[in-house]
Amino acid sequence: MMTNAAIDITAQHQDVAPEFSFTASERRVFKAREKVTVSQHADAHRQVTRGPWKGQWDTANTEYLRFPMDLWNLPWIRKIFMCWAPQTGKTQVALNCLHYCIDQDPDTAFYVMSTEGTLHRIKQKQLDPMIASSPRVSHLVAEDIKTSIQFKNGMDLMMAWATSVSALASESARYMFFDEVDKYDPPINLDLGDIRTNAYPHTKKLLYYTTPEDETRPITRLIREEADVLYQYLARCPMCGHYQVMEFDRIKWPQEIRDPKKIIRGKLARYECEACGNGWTDDLRDQAIRRHPSDGDMLRWRPFVGRSIFGKFSEPPDRPTAVGMHLPSWNSPFISLSEVAAAFLRGLKDPDKLRIFMTQHKAEPWVYRVKTTTEDQVLKARRPDLKPQTVPAAAVALTCGIDVQKYGFWFLVRAWARDYTSWMIHYGFLSYWAEIEDLLFMREYPRADDGSGSGLRIWRAGIDTGGGKYDEQISSAEQVYLWLLKNRVGRGCQVWGTKGASRNLASKISIGKSLQHTPTGRSIPGGLSIISLDTNKLKDTVHFRLDKAMAGTAETAHMAAYLHSGTGPDYARQIMAEVKKQDKKGQETWAQEYRDNHLLDCEVIAHALADPEWPGGGVHLITQPRRPPKDDSQAGPKTKTSRRPSRW
Ligand SMILES: [Zn+2]
Repeated sequence: MMTNAAIDITAQHQDVAPEFSFTASERRVFKAREKVTVSQHADAHRQVTRGPWKGQWDTANTEYLRFPMDLWNLPWIRKIFMCWAPQTGKTQVALNCLHYCIDQDPDTAFYVMSTEGTLHRIKQKQLDPMIASSPRVSHLVAEDIKTSIQFKNGMDLMMAWATSVSALASESARYMFFDEVDKYDPPINLDLGDIRTNAYPHTKKLLYYTTPEDETRPITRLIREEADVLYQYLARCPMCGHYQVMEFDRIKWPQEIRDPKKIIRGKLARYECEACGNGWTDDLRDQAIRRHPSDGDMLRWRPFVGRSIFGKFSEPPDRPTAVGMHLPSWNSPFISLSEVAAAFLRGLKDPDKLRIFMTQHKAEPWVYRVKTTTEDQVLKARRPDLKPQTVPAAAVALTCGIDVQKYGFWFLVRAWARDYTSWMIHYGFLSYWAEIEDLLFMREYPRADDGSGSGLRIWRAGIDTGGGKYDEQISSAEQVYLWLLKNRVGRGCQVWGTKGASRNLASKISIGKSLQHTPTGRSIPGGLSIISLDTNKLKDTVHFRLDKAMAGTAETAHMAAYLHSGTGPDYARQIMAEVKKQDKKGQETWAQEYRDNHLLDCEVIAHALADPEWPGGGVHLITQPRRPPKDDSQAGPKTKTSRRPSRW
């Protein structure tokens, strides 16, 4: 049933007999060389000192690691691209190949990691213990400094991280290992590996391995542009013996259960065999991915033929030089099928979590599909029954985003239910600070129903402090700061200064350090903290929720962002003013298409204010519909994890 006879593992190590004379030490090295593959070498000599693979290495425990390791021995293979889920063992593949090189085929090697911190962590926790515990190579260490290890047999291992690697432009290497290559920031030049290994056109080996990020990142582009073949792992049904690539769609759980925690607790997910239809539990899945006596010399990886996110593939050549390998999380014995199902269900509700499911479980790059949404479509998010400037019954709090202009302010008010369903109830333009103060501190919006419930005032407001490089922007930022100093406490509504972060933050929202001076140098007694917003991520959130409201079905209602019945095309145009684009470096960002995007900025702030990441926690913590505050306290919802600026 296997279509693939392309790779003959026995064809390794066709070393050319040396015709010139060697030194005594070189002869010793050659004598020591065994005719083994990387997996055999690891099974014989590799000790793992920590983690799930702890102990004497045994490839049979995770059979899917055998083939990628043994690819290293095939003389025609130059590049291996592994796009794998976390916790599948890809780092172990790299370490075993490296261990093999040190012992069996010493030469110059580069090991590139995403950050300096990762480098030191991997060196300390993985590399150093691997070398120290190996009877084959521990005695060969000649010099071990922070970022390089020299071995007495000529092996020279250099380590670098993404931003340091270009500093080593003159170095050349025969082996290159790129650890978590999609996490490099800024992304590396994809030609880097080729440039470094130019001196070894016929013997170089490059291993790229990572959990994918988005489709502009290296692993997806390398597989699309360079791989001759894309391999997928075959599981073997313990019931009927049928070999198959496991697909997410065959993971099943009781349809009525939508609570991810219940599925994990009850271990309710099963994998349904495509041939016999029997459901595999986690234990049976573990058997299915393990080696089986009936495997014989069959290869447990199959070339993918057809079109996928990684490009179009036809039957592979006999001797591919560049090989892609794709492995989703459910092939790992360390991931329960129920965790996969739970991750999928969480993704239905939240774009951040959908991204986690796609990248960390499916091991596919995240693609934000920019739909060509029209203004009419945006307006489908309107609720005909929701009059402007009224509060729906389910709402428990109001947030207000404000964008400062040269001659006034754009603002937008959003009402929130505890489950993050929301309704834009008011937007517009105001000319004076006094009007903003009236809106934030005096205004009470009535309930949309019969008016018997109490109305709501604005709970949190965020005002963009801007602060650009031009004089007028500096003076506008100055004004906002002075206004915040006067109004931030004691007036019922919590008021915050925000600014858009120019580069991607680790989280959507973060508190800047306390400022002691205004832009023009006036001192701020007690300091003032400005909240940084990752506008790229938040714009994704806004659009994701608006899309749900546009779809308008009961299933998508949860977390949908609705609009009041009087919302006009002016709103829709400003929301559509930015589209997701790819810049020259392949980074995806929101870019302005039309001039006026102010209401989109207001939406970003209004969404951020309700978010769980906001200091003090999210809107889900509010238990009672809020009444107009009786005193001047700023008591928002409190959680144990609540982190507030020290003075605010
Ligand atoms: Zn079966």
